[in-house]
Amino acid sequence: MTAPSFDTLPAPLRALATGNVGAFAAPFAAAGFVVATPARGVLTVRAPEAHTGRPGVLLSVGVHGDETGPVEMVAGILDALARAPHELAVDLMLCVAHVDAIAAGRRFIDADLNRMFRTTRHDLVNTLEAVRADELVAATSAFFDACGPVRWHLDLHTAIRASRYPAFAIVPALVAGAARDALVAWLGTAGAEAVILNRVPGGTYSYWTAERHGAAASTVELGRVGALGGNDLARFDAAHRAVAALLRGRTVTGAAPPLVFDTVRTITKLSESFSMRVGRDTANFTPLARGDVIATDGGTVYTVEQDGEYIVFPNPDVRVGLRAGIVVRRCDG
Ligand SMILES: [Zn+2]
Repeated sequence: MTAPSFDTLPAPLRALATGNVGAFAAPFAAAGFVVATPARGVLTVRAPEAHTGRPGVLLSVGVHGDETGPVEMVAGILDALARAPHELAVDLMLCVAHVDAIAAGRRFIDADLNRMFRTTRHDLVNTLEAVRADELVAATSAFFDACGPVRWHLDLHTAIRASRYPAFAIVPALVAGAARDALVAWLGTAGAEAVILNRVPGGTYSYWTAERHGAAASTVELGRVGALGGNDLARFDAAHRAVAALLRGRTVTGAAPPLVFDTVRTITKLSESFSMRVGRDTANFTPLARGDVIATDGGTVYTVEQDGEYIVFPNPDVRVGLRAGIVVRRCDG
């Protein structure tokens, strides 16, 4: 795969895609906000007074470098907001997570960044992504530690395979009560048709912010991977409107609530003898039949235990020890 050329991109998108988030700083600073770039690709914009009670919102994009649709979408949102900076109603952290992978046009350089938000990294400690995760952990902690109790983290991705629900989200199950209700309702306004409650940390950025900072956090999958500058932004319309409204303290109304699924089983690749019966091209949320064998791994057999179970993220090509898929079931119907 050749590295993409960014020369022909519109200036806001080029700035975001290259991690030059400081390009957006001036209008917010001129409007009286406290603006900082605590790490490469990270911009924070806060109200000047401390303890304002404004919600803290972390928007992250590009955790996977080839998932460029959300980068384009957020470039448009930020460009518009920078023209009317007084409309910003939250404390904002914008994070272009994996600038090097975006530059290379690749999902990652050494290893998946979205498995690095954990304390034990085993043989991955010396990867570029481990170093980057440490930078993001430090910047994110500094941001949320200075925020009030209402904290949101939207980690925006695009899926690498087809999905019965093109837009869906994964919410850590530890996000509970009114915070979960508000987040799930918001995800509906952003176009998500399904929400999966996840009980396994997995080293993802959104699980980490939920666990460590009490954020109402979600990994949001907004449709298919596309080339930077060439994404069909119509697919991101609902998400664009919902994020733009959130940053202005407004709510989009009239959206259907997403279906909510609980994770009933995580398929973990335990050894190199792991063999998946569900094909790697299987669409997310494909229904399974009771008794179907999903995968075998030495003496371990992963079988569908009940009707009404669905497979999400089937991927036999992950490293040993990592998630090769999850099995979910509707918990609201
Ligand atoms: Zn992703």
